[in-house]
Amino acid sequence: MWIGGKSGIINEYNGVFIKSLYVSYLLSNMSSCPGNDPICKTRSRQVSTIKPLGHESKFTYKYYEAMLAKAITMGFCISSFEHYSSENEKTIILRHDVDYTINGVIQLAEIEARLGVTATYLFRIHAHEYNVLTPHVNALIKTLLDMGHEIGLHNEAMTVSRATNRDPMELLKIGKQVLELAADVQIKTCSEHRDVSHVVHGTGKFNDHYDCHEAGIINDSMESRFFKQMKYLSDANGVWREGDLLQHLDEHNRFQVLVHPDWWFEHDLLLKGPYFHGLGN
Ligand SMILES: [Zn+2]
Repeated sequence: MWIGGKSGIINEYNGVFIKSLYVSYLLSNMSSCPGNDPICKTRSRQVSTIKPLGHESKFTYKYYEAMLAKAITMGFCISSFEHYSSENEKTIILRHDVDYTINGVIQLAEIEARLGVTATYLFRIHAHEYNVLTPHVNALIKTLLDMGHEIGLHNEAMTVSRATNRDPMELLKIGKQVLELAADVQIKTCSEHRDVSHVVHGTGKFNDHYDCHEAGIINDSMESRFFKQMKYLSDANGVWREGDLLQHLDEHNRFQVLVHPDWWFEHDLLLKGPYFHGLGN
């Protein structure tokens, strides 16, 4: 598989690592993928060159940037759920479930902003490790919004219902309200947080029993138009089970790509700091 930008420098990708990679690419600005514009307009301005990668892990910020840049050069419109338009022929919805820490969030967001694309960052309101009303997390949310990204709810109503015997739909509505209070915007998009506790307790999926739209949600990440009708790729648990985006760009025109910021890093995962202690970056 060849990876290369407009510079014409050809690089070899062997499925495990990139030996060397120079990508010069065409970039769009933040208004390139508005929801009301069916055409993803890209402006021909070269604003950045990614320096050579060595034997890099696939979970470095450099790799992430190269992956998105390649998609842009191939004409994909990359956007959040709220800016997604079904009229764009080649499209990628970028979804970030903020699972355990806020590590990696601002780094991915800045890469996306630099490339002129948007993403949806879905926050939990029951996480042990961070709190959307804590000042530094709340400031992060406001920064993401200022950058043009969308804030969504990483729903765990089924878990909380199991623990409290409260109605899951009511809990989803409350969760949405809390996040709207924290972010000071309407929450339109949700995804469900599922971890090992769901396996241990046999907790069912929210969508198997309820409909998020009844709570005023517009975009449920798992509804058919975003899941069955798109190629879905996820880095869950730090593993691209079907390969990453680069391995599929030639084969599909519509993607939902789930990237957990927790798993991405500059050089080494250990250097991200107090990983599971919620202290953020
Ligand atoms: Zn999750």
